Amino acid sequence: MERLLDSMPPLVPKIRKQAPLSIRSSQLPTHVEGFETPPESLRTHWPAGETEAQRRLERFLDETAEDYDRLRDLPAKPGTSQLSAYLAAGVISVRQCLHAAIDRNRGDLDSGSKGVQTWITELIWREFYKHIMTGYPRVSRHRAFRPHTEALPWRHAPEELKAWQEGRTGFPLIDAAMRQLLATGWMHNRLRMVTAMFLTKNLLIDWREGERHFMRHLIDGDFASNNGGWQWSASTGTDSVPYFRIFNPVTQSRRFDPEGRFIGQWIPEIDHLSENIHLPRSNSDIFENKVYPRPIVDLSRSRERALEAFKGLPRSKG
Ligand SMILES: Cc1cc2nc3c(=O)[nH]c(=O)nc-3n(C[C@H](O)[C@H](O)[C@H](O)COP(=O)(O)OP(=O)(O)OC[C@H]3O[C@@H](n4cnc5c(N)ncnc54)[C@H](O)[C@@H]3O)c2cc1C
Repeated sequence: MERLLDSMPPLVPKIRKQAPLSIRSSQLPTHVEGFETPPESLRTHWPAGETEAQRRLERFLDETAEDYDRLRDLPAKPGTSQLSAYLAAGVISVRQCLHAAIDRNRGDLDSGSKGVQTWITELIWREFYKHIMTGYPRVSRHRAFRPHTEALPWRHAPEELKAWQEGRTGFPLIDAAMRQLLATGWMHNRLRMVTAMFLTKNLLIDWREGERHFMRHLIDGDFASNNGGWQWSASTGTDSVPYFRIFNPVTQSRRFDPEGRFIGQWIPEIDHLSENIHLPRSNSDIFENKVYPRPIVDLSRSRERALEAFKGLPRSKG
């Protein structure tokens, strides 16, 4: 710990050693003019206040952080901190999270627990996107970070957009994720990437549509992280995924939800399908009886269409 604190900029230890400020909170309002009161289910899922944020941080570090690098990609497991809403609202700071993590890692930032180190790198992604927004303000004006990608021939496909928004694409992992978002105001990070890539690559719909939908429904909606995540997935952003690396939602489903537990939780009507839960068979009676929709797009043809669209772009001037 000594070693690390000595090597940190003076501001950080200084802040740490300050006595806690005593701020008297006023009573939480039950209603805010101009905003709908969230339903009870959301309020139970995301209790307001600093005490809850600190409780989540401690619990995560006690019970999960060690295994974070192994669990963080599995949506069926509670393998992440679920602190994003509290960070976005400013109820807890990223410094508090960082220092708590370093403390648990015996003062080490880049050695010790692999799980804790990985978690710290995620906190840094958040900071990275804040810096991008400050350094490149065009991203907050609906512009792509890579200007040449503005020429992409995005499709106007309102029915497909609506199917994606409502979790009716016929791809169970995508639909389960979109339903999780609508029901809880939160979506697992792996699924944010998979659903965003499906919208922008397989449906070739403008990332700004997805960004807007997420911002409307996410309880942790944070302009910089949301924009950064969308532009990463759409290959229009900084350090973004190469355009030809397109996640296949069925392969992702088999890999990260192998037993279909996450899918079954959000789409109980297909929970009985065992291995076929990742992509119901085309001769299945669930389609005939309209229990679950057929896929709205052919994955390999739509992949080719996206590749063509990106290949047709003018060259980036850097
Ligand atoms: C398309 C897309 C949209 C996103 N929109 C948002 C958003 O509006 N608000 C938001 O807070 N995060 C957003 N993220 C990032 C990430 O998905 C969430 O921060 C994470 O799922 C929150 O869950 P957690 O608190 O359990 O995270 P943990 O895994 O416990 O991570 C701890 C914290 O690190 C930060 N963090 C983790 N991953 C990322 C990341 N990839 N980028 C930036 N910060 C990260 C978050 O503040 C998070 O609370 C988005 C990612 C994508 C791909």
